[in-house]
Amino acid sequence: MANNSKIPATLIPGDGIGPEVSEATLRILEAVGAPFEWERQIAGMAGVEKCNDPLPKETLDSIRRTRLALKGPLTTPVGGGYRSSNVRLREEFNLYANLRPARTLVPGGRYEDIDIVLVRENLEGLYVGFEHYIPIGDDPHAVAVASGVNTRAGARRICEFAFEYALKNGRKKVTLVHKANVLKALTGLFLEAGREVAKQYEGRIQCDDRIIDACAMQLVMNPWQYDVIVTTNLFGDILSDLNAGLVGGLGMAPAGNIGVNAAIFEAVHGSAPDIAGKDMANPLALTLSAAMMLDHVGHQDKAARIRKGIDQVLREDNIRTGDLGGKAGTREFTAAVIKRVS
Ligand code: NAD
Repeated sequence: MANNSKIPATLIPGDGIGPEVSEATLRILEAVGAPFEWERQIAGMAGVEKCNDPLPKETLDSIRRTRLALKGPLTTPVGGGYRSSNVRLREEFNLYANLRPARTLVPGGRYEDIDIVLVRENLEGLYVGFEHYIPIGDDPHAVAVASGVNTRAGARRICEFAFEYALKNGRKKVTLVHKANVLKALTGLFLEAGREVAKQYEGRIQCDDRIIDACAMQLVMNPWQYDVIVTTNLFGDILSDLNAGLVGGLGMAPAGNIGVNAAIFEAVHGSAPDIAGKDMANPLALTLSAAMMLDHVGHQDKAARIRKGIDQVLREDNIRTGDLGGKAGTREFTAAVIKRVS
């Protein structure tokens, strides 16, 4: 239940544009009176530079304490170097649910009024990476075999998450997306578990199901029929990018990685080294991730104020950063949002 007591949370400003978009987000959170008490920590390149560790123990200990984090983008070296701190964080804290809302923010795009939330299972399915080759003759890669793993417990857990999310956020319908006509065991189990979970919510949240290929086609033809979608890891990976494409791309896409013991909210974009330190970054993805964090801790009212303020700045004030075709810098854009939400 939301109240005014302080909520300890870990802040990882991140690399590149991370510190700029984090600062902007903190100021917007402050303007709506968000109750977070921040523990500032480092990871990624900042961790390597300061203590030769992309995921320092202090950072992990902080998230273990607070169980809640807002994370700016982290730079990962390409081809060699250290492993992605983002992936390590998801594994370390068993963050089984990936929550990706896609909502039209800037009018005049290909589709208007999109508002779809995709819930992706984050730890199972074909993503477990159980793969091997079978050599034949002199071809060591003659055959490739991959095994997927879905568990009833894992499927139930993610479907329950989706229905609970729907209930708490005033959503009407959850669609289970699968390929149970062909992958009868792997995704049949997911569908079976999802239908069991749906029974617990009968009369409160509607439920239907779609085969993944039909769902992809319908998302392009008539996306408005979807509300909350829940699906397995690989399908979720693909559909969440498809949904981001419906609302103008990944640039403003927020995300939450949620587990039993912790939740980490982050922008989908990276550290954008090309524009770092130039007052050009769009802070919206991280700010919208922070709004999801407010929802998560029961402060939906404050999250709604942030979303409404952003809508007003983009649609009525017509103030936009360069990536959205505007002229405003990070600071000017942030000031406009603060004025609207205050
Ligand atoms: P990127 O998302 O950082 O940048 C791609 C393009 O989008 C660039 O032109 C950039 O200027 C632009 N852009 C990104 N965010 C923007 C914003 N908020 N406002 C305006 N423009 C924005 O992707 P990349 O260049 O492939 O990756 C850079 C680094 O970020 C790499 O080290 C990569 O590993 C890392 N990365 C981290 C995360 C994460 O922490 N979750 C995600 C993706 C990439």
